[in-house]
Formats: sequence, structure tokens, C-alpha cells
Amino acid sequence: MSNTDVLSEPTTTDSLITIEQVTLAYPTATGTPVQALLPIDLEIADGTFVSLVGPSGCGKSTLLKILAGLLRQSEGEVRLGGRDLSGPSPDVGVVFQQPVLLPWLTILDNVLLPIRVQKRNVAQHRDRAMDLLRMVGLDGFEKRYPSELSGGMQQRAGIVRALVPNPRILLMDEPFGALDALTREQMNDDLQRIWSEERKTVFFITHSIPEAVYLSDRVLVMSERPGRIVADFSVDIERPRRLDATGDPRFQQTATQIRGLLNARGGID
Ligand code: ADP
Repeated sequence: MSNTDVLSEPTTTDSLITIEQVTLAYPTATGTPVQALLPIDLEIADGTFVSLVGPSGCGKSTLLKILAGLLRQSEGEVRLGGRDLSGPSPDVGVVFQQPVLLPWLTILDNVLLPIRVQKRNVAQHRDRAMDLLRMVGLDGFEKRYPSELSGGMQQRAGIVRALVPNPRILLMDEPFGALDALTREQMNDDLQRIWSEERKTVFFITHSIPEAVYLSDRVLVMSERPGRIVADFSVDIERPRRLDATGDPRFQQTATQIRGLLNARGGID
């Protein structure tokens, strides 16, 4: 495991996400903009799992929303697969902390909703939706309504909904932040399995350093606002990782380094 403390050298060949000199300033009613991001440079290779940790309000969600095409950066360039990002793309799936399922639709109809919205062939995606529901342990629940499912099950459905269109990139903004500790552990295990089977490129925001280290190939650390990336840790622990990997000295060393860095900068909250 290595702490390079500087960004990885850009990889020109296999980089799926390229962020160059991206800044964001939110306009405000007072006329003084809120500078959320200082220039960010980042390359993310295809198929990697990258987490982002940093203090509350430092700009993590802002960066994720830019990648989702929901916010336009003030300056700089974002390219996905070599093409300029110009708005939400079917190549990008997003999972937020709350899954926001529609209460009047069944779980199956909820996870197929993006296909309907994108006016794609629903029948062709039904099998994939069922396979994914099975993969996350929701088979048998496809005809149920969201209110009949626990919070963890609803979030599983939210992940399936993001995966049904088969995006290359999955953006996850504190997806397990609202779940209890045991459910969260189970979700980490499930997510690792989904990632290894589906090989998506995942950009994952979390407040949990152990969660970031457990799941990721790289953990990025963002400074307090205005956010910039101040460290880039590689996690070279073999996969599949078991939940007891958290006892591995390499795991603990990286987690301790990240915590030390964040504490030195004022903590994570
Ligand atoms: P994080 O995800 O790291 O908690 P955010 O990206 O949500 O942080 O927010 C970064 C900063 O930008 C915060 O100080 C927040 O208050 C501010 N901010 C977020 N959205 C807006 C907005 N729409 N208008 C003005 N300021 C905003």
C-alpha cells in the first residue's frame, strides 16, 4: 500500500474519467459567490473503484454532481471516455443517500423507470433488472411496494435502478450513510460483489474511512472548502476482500494515514 500524497500520473490510455482544472463557484443572492471547488485535476481509470473523503461541506457532492452532468463547472473540462460531458448521460448511474423510490410503483417498475424515461425498450431490460434484483437479494420482492421494504432493501433497489441501464460509471453519494452499522457492512460486502461482477467504474463519497479503504482501489482526500484533492492513496489489498480485511495491517495503516491527514486539517465533520 502506498501513500503517494500527490495525484497519480495521468494515464492517457485507459482513463475513463478526466477532470482538468475544474472549479465551481455557486452564485448567491448577495452577489458574492461561494467558491466550492478550487482547480481539480483527476484521472480515473476504467473499472476502478475510487472513494472520496473529506470534511462536511468541502465540495464532494459538488464534484459528484458535476460528473453526473447535474451541475456545470465554472471552469475547466470534464471528459467521459474522451468526450466532453454536456449533461446527464445514460453512461452514468447515480445513487444518493436516499433512494427516492416512487411509492405507487412496484420495486420492478421503480428499477425500470430510467429505461422508461430514456424511452428504451422496457421488455429488453426486464431480465437484467430481475438478475440484478437477485444479485442484491431482492428476488421475490419485485412485486412489492417500497413501503414494504426496509431502508437497506430500498437502497439496494436504488442501486439496481442505477445499474439497469448498464452505465459505465456509477456515482454514489454517501449511499449507506442512513443505514445502521450491520446493514451497512452487509451493503459493503454486496457492493464489492456487484462491482467485481459488473466492473463498473465507481466514484463513491463516504464519511467512513474504513468503508472507503475496504471498498476502494484509491481513496482521494479533499481539503476543507474550497475543496481540492490533497492526497491520493492506493489500496493494494487483494480482492475479494473479506469483512475481516479491516484487521489487516495494510488496511489499518492506510486508514490511520487518512485519519491523521483529515485530523490535521480539522477533522471530517
Ligand atoms: P460536501 O458534499 O463535501 O458536504 P457540498 O459539495 O454539498 O459539500 O457543498 C460544498 C459547499 O458549497 C458548501 O459550503 C455548501 O454550503 C455550498 N453549496 C452547496 N450547494 C450550494 C448552492 N446551491 N448555493 C450556494 N452554496 C452551495
